[in-house]
Amino acid sequence: MIYLDSNATTQVQPAVLEAMLPYLQDQCYNPSSGYRAAKGVKEALSQAREQVAALISAQPEEIVFTGCGTESNNAAILSLAHSVSPEKRVIVTSAIEHSAVLRVCEHLEGFQVHLVGVDEGGRLDLEAWERAVSSEGVAFATLMWANNETGVIQPLKEACALAHKYNVPFHTDAIQAIGKTVVDARESDVDYLSISGHKFHAPKGVGALYIKKGLPFEPLLLGGGQEGGRRSGTENVASIIGMGKAAELVMEQCGEKLKNIQSLRDLFENTVLNGLEGVHVNGDPEHRAGNTSHLSFDDCEAAGLLVLLDEYGVACSAGSACMTGKQRPSHVQKAMGFSDRYARSSLRISFSILNTKQEALKGAQQLIKAVKKLRKVQGSGGVGSVMVYTS
Ligand SMILES: *Cc1c(COP(=O)(O)O)cnc(C)c1O
Repeated sequence: MIYLDSNATTQVQPAVLEAMLPYLQDQCYNPSSGYRAAKGVKEALSQAREQVAALISAQPEEIVFTGCGTESNNAAILSLAHSVSPEKRVIVTSAIEHSAVLRVCEHLEGFQVHLVGVDEGGRLDLEAWERAVSSEGVAFATLMWANNETGVIQPLKEACALAHKYNVPFHTDAIQAIGKTVVDARESDVDYLSISGHKFHAPKGVGALYIKKGLPFEPLLLGGGQEGGRRSGTENVASIIGMGKAAELVMEQCGEKLKNIQSLRDLFENTVLNGLEGVHVNGDPEHRAGNTSHLSFDDCEAAGLLVLLDEYGVACSAGSACMTGKQRPSHVQKAMGFSDRYARSSLRISFSILNTKQEALKGAQQLIKAVKKLRKVQGSGGVGSVMVYTS
């Protein structure tokens, strides 16, 4: 299978697995144990903390390991909601956030959620953002660094500076930005920042939260007091060490590999654009992550395309995670002003450093074949259930 869905998750790189293995085998000690053998595990955890901190230009003490990116977002947002003064009851965020931000904000009782819109390229409307963060009673702001559906990189530094101009604390979900653009916690001046291992070739089920030195934090999990009391629970040692190694690899590989990924994406996109009429590239061309291609096809439903592509051995996603025949536009597509019809014809194709040129070419050829086949069936009056196209 050709895997072109790296914004959903990535494969653990061999060097990452190699770094992890001892901690699943003979080095399985609890890092909190007192004997000498456990000290080595504790030291390995410290090293991973340094590696993750270095990845985002933070200090090791500013990193808390978590169980996933969703947990990092939840912990940051819930802590912010609990630590602000009670007359501040407005949360400012964007209309294109991941559900791991939107659902948490909606869940907070007594808070009002102000969703700031984006332009048709999927980029935050900074003027509307400033109006929102400067209004009365804002508790905190949260904005994603890069969008998971479109790959569009947001004006993060500007949005953070505007929040701070009005003394509004700022969190960012940087989960899709790692390995795709420079993520610098210090320079961007964010207060809280979430990352997730499995989006950059570490295992699933491990993440980290950056908490700027000196800022308040109320833990989500209470218990044994691990992570300096900020996240109880025995550390997921092997995965944390894997995430440390993956962070190191991202830093080593960043410039050159980023260009490689982008050239694969461009090869793929150009092949599709040359091979088909009626293809539209979505997302602000100046601010797209180099690994993501978000495309819409005239007269062609994404749901049917996904079924065919699966049959042809290509894995990618619809613009939304919803893959049923009655696919509805995602909140991201709606925020970008897509019509239902346009949204229903959109696909997300996302690459990683593990993809090859052959895969990019083959993937494009299979996609061209699928679109042509589907248009022919639809053109001949075969529109209806997507199941029509599976035989
Ligand atoms: C994947 C993702 C998450 C969730 O991270 P998990 O580690 O899967 O919980 C949150 N936000 C964005 C933007 C993501 O892409």
